[in-house]
Amino acid sequence: MSTDIGHRDLAGSIAGFVDDVVMPVAPAMARGDGPSPRRIVEAAGEAGLAGILTPEALGGAGGSHGDFIRFIEAVARADASCAVILDVHLSVGTEPLLVFGNDDQKSRYLPKLAAGEWLAAFALTEAAGGSDAIAMRTRAVRDGDTYVLDGAKAFITGAGDADLYIVMARTGEGARGVSAFLVEAALPGVGTGAPLAKMGLHGSWTGELVLDAVRVPAENRLGDEGAGFTVAMSALDSGRVGISAQAVGIAQGALDAALESARRRRDAGSEPDVTTIADMEVRTAAARQLTAMRPHSSTQGSASRSMRQSPSCTPPTRASPWRSPPWTSAHRNRRSTATPQRCASATPRHARSTREPTRSSASSSRGIFSVTDPNDPPPAAW
Ligand SMILES: Cc1cc2nc3c(=O)[nH]c(=O)nc-3n(C[C@H](O)[C@H](O)[C@H](O)COP(=O)(O)OP(=O)(O)OC[C@H]3O[C@@H](n4cnc5c(N)ncnc54)[C@H](O)[C@@H]3O)c2cc1C
Repeated sequence: MSTDIGHRDLAGSIAGFVDDVVMPVAPAMARGDGPSPRRIVEAAGEAGLAGILTPEALGGAGGSHGDFIRFIEAVARADASCAVILDVHLSVGTEPLLVFGNDDQKSRYLPKLAAGEWLAAFALTEAAGGSDAIAMRTRAVRDGDTYVLDGAKAFITGAGDADLYIVMARTGEGARGVSAFLVEAALPGVGTGAPLAKMGLHGSWTGELVLDAVRVPAENRLGDEGAGFTVAMSALDSGRVGISAQAVGIAQGALDAALESARRRRDAGSEPDVTTIADMEVRTAAARQLTAMRPHSSTQGSASRSMRQSPSCTPPTRASPWRSPPWTSAHRNRRSTATPQRCASATPRHARSTREPTRSSASSSRGIFSVTDPNDPPPAAW
């Protein structure tokens, strides 16, 4: 049984959020001087969208992955940076708590995250462990009723602005020697570097998270000791659905722009390249259908079932497909000699933009060709 929020309510909230919040800041986000990630999530909270997957009893909207996909696609159509900020907050930043958190952890954190008061982040990647996540070196050593975390995480979305990091750290060896922790940004020893200067997604902060003898209360371990790799892989499994929705939204935005350009060419007397535009539409529609299949086929709208039923919830064994290919350890060793660049304090460079909103062509793109609109009623599979 689907748990989709009433489609009309959700569509209205999403459309209002995109028009009132995302579109006005999109140009500034593209330049990297838009509102901070926390401000975007705060605005989503005000619109009732910062906890789409969180149960209503904990302050969320109690929605499904179908709802989540529709939201991320609509935001990405207008601005890719806002989409990645919201995707990370809602999926890998919140879902592990929904699925693996105990009642105490859920009640302490989920209402703040769903209200948009707190920004959530997910910290798995390290300089020595990207695709090969098991190569991580960050350690968590039990000391009485705390764990002491030491290490550095790389490429963390929201680093420097997040209030809560879900951090994977070593409590032992191998895949079963990883544990997950809820690390509050305010804890002594938590530091972040300046956001990286990326090729794109300038409005989304991506940076290093440094953990310097951070004492995390034992009650903030997420799941059992040694279950961290399961937490991480199931979070990523679900997170990929959001990444797909981002890609579909960005493709739709590109199609909007192409249509606008084609219309101008037609009005100027030139023949638009309808074959190319038709091809763009077909590919975008196909990607949308594929994205919709994943939550429908495995979850029927339940965050917890999505993660628990995920095939990648099982930590890798020596015989599993996760086993590293022969060249990976050499690759890892080469990478691990690099000293991560550390910076003790965050240096947020973004200030709220004062520039006037610029409407994108999204709402004006329909008319000369028949184009699928993400605001149309969803396909039957949803
Ligand atoms: C914008 C952005 C935001 C991010 N946000 C987060 C975040 O919030 N939290 C987080 O934890 N991480 C985050 N990451 C990190 C991301 O998950 C890693 O970049 C990713 O896991 C890849 O790791 P890597 O960059 O070290 O690349 P590498 O692992 O070095 O891979 C480089 C290339 O080698 C290929 N490759 C790697 N291993 C193999 C193999 N065994 N066989 C064949 N090919 C292989 C890869 O496919 C890739 O093409 C983010 C990254 C970016 C760019």
